[in-house]
Amino acid sequence: MVVVSNRVAVATDTKARAGGLAVAIQDALQQSGGVWFGWSGKVVPKTPSEPTLHEAGPVTYATLDLSRKHYNEYYNGFANRALWPLFHYRLDLTAFSQEHYSSYLEVNKLFAGHLLPLLEPEDLIWIHDYHLIPLGEQLRRSGITRPMGFFLHTPFPALEILTALPSHRSLVQALCAYDLVGFHTENDLRAFLDYIVHEAGGGIMGNHLIHAFGKTLRVEIFPIGIETDAFEKGGASLSRSQKTESLRSHPHGRAWIIGVDRLDYSKGLVERLLSFECFLDRYPEFKGKVTLVQIAPPSRSEVPEYREIQRMLETHAGRLNGRFAEFDWVPINYLNKSYQRQELIQFYRASRVGLITPLRDGMNLVAKEYVASQDPEDPGVMVLSRFAGAARELDSALIVNPLDFEGVADAIARGLTMPLEERKERWNGMMETLRGNTLNTWRDDFIEALRQAPYE
Ligand code: UDP
Repeated sequence: MVVVSNRVAVATDTKARAGGLAVAIQDALQQSGGVWFGWSGKVVPKTPSEPTLHEAGPVTYATLDLSRKHYNEYYNGFANRALWPLFHYRLDLTAFSQEHYSSYLEVNKLFAGHLLPLLEPEDLIWIHDYHLIPLGEQLRRSGITRPMGFFLHTPFPALEILTALPSHRSLVQALCAYDLVGFHTENDLRAFLDYIVHEAGGGIMGNHLIHAFGKTLRVEIFPIGIETDAFEKGGASLSRSQKTESLRSHPHGRAWIIGVDRLDYSKGLVERLLSFECFLDRYPEFKGKVTLVQIAPPSRSEVPEYREIQRMLETHAGRLNGRFAEFDWVPINYLNKSYQRQELIQFYRASRVGLITPLRDGMNLVAKEYVASQDPEDPGVMVLSRFAGAARELDSALIVNPLDFEGVADAIARGLTMPLEERKERWNGMMETLRGNTLNTWRDDFIEALRQAPYE
């Protein structure tokens, strides 16, 4: 198997540090043998001539540094200032430039060129995410005919949004060079099919197959899962730890509400703080009794829109704390740093409400992690945005519209006062889904579908 993704978790990094997805991919590669190719995360003055190879058992990790120019134009420019905002429905933040788009194509071509010598005749090729959409097409141009799959980890935008991108057609045409294209939700798939039928003049053939741009391919939803078992077990063992105890015995019987999000405008963090302010105004009896813990590690801080969202959050958190705090209580603990998984599990487990309200999110793994970490005998309540992919599966969460501040405020109050029986019932419903669709199920289902290619 050959996996290509923006970043590569080389096996010498300990598993504890690597994220869930990295572990799932490493495990699959260990079983089948193969290559994991991507950006090294390093930026150098000039484009390097060769990738760095690292052999670990049956797996070769191949990583390429990016030149400063490509980093600015391909990564920060087209990927993170055009595709990311557009795919998250933020036309107002989408900055398109022909030069950045050329760089995007150039880097994908460069990756294809370095990948070619590493390919074996029977390889299955699995490419991940919006940075690398044209990679498959570049490989096809070099004569590669074997099965290639692509999974999009972000939402796929509605036709009217996507067509605002000048290069929309060539981007979708590039997607159609794959044999299999996977999305998180029905919504994403519907948006893609809408484009295929109404913009590309393609056809839907049934049985997950479509025909467009002279190619037949399979398009299907594969909602990504988490390592449910690890969070359940982690929650159970950590619930006896000193830290969880001290979090639980919060002074004056106060309750925690938790949010955990990369500092990204798609996560609806400012709107969340405004909803929390609305909650304190509408339900003053909770003043002094509830604290919102918002973990928000900085991300992509070289992109101006990310610096701006950080500034806005700091302003609102400071304003709210100034407005409501008492000498022995602050309403918001804003933590601008990242935590290890074990620490997150403790925070999740100790929090009465998980407040996850993105304006748009491909899946949102935090929502699933919060649920899986709860105490089955006394589970917390998930308040979840309808615009997170996870809302499709976690439908017994309290589903909210993050732009409806009063609605979110009411859901928070409802979560804080929900009777145990209802909390258990909702939690059991969500756990059934999370146990049935784990990260490994997602990976195995995608690979199984790819094995059946070509579909013509
Ligand atoms: N995460 C973490 N430490 C933090 C914050 C987040 O390890 O301080 C992890 C979190 O547990 C989850 C991932 O980062 O697994 C975030 O995934 P999600 O799908 O929620 O959002 P993304 O950042 O991919 O948009």
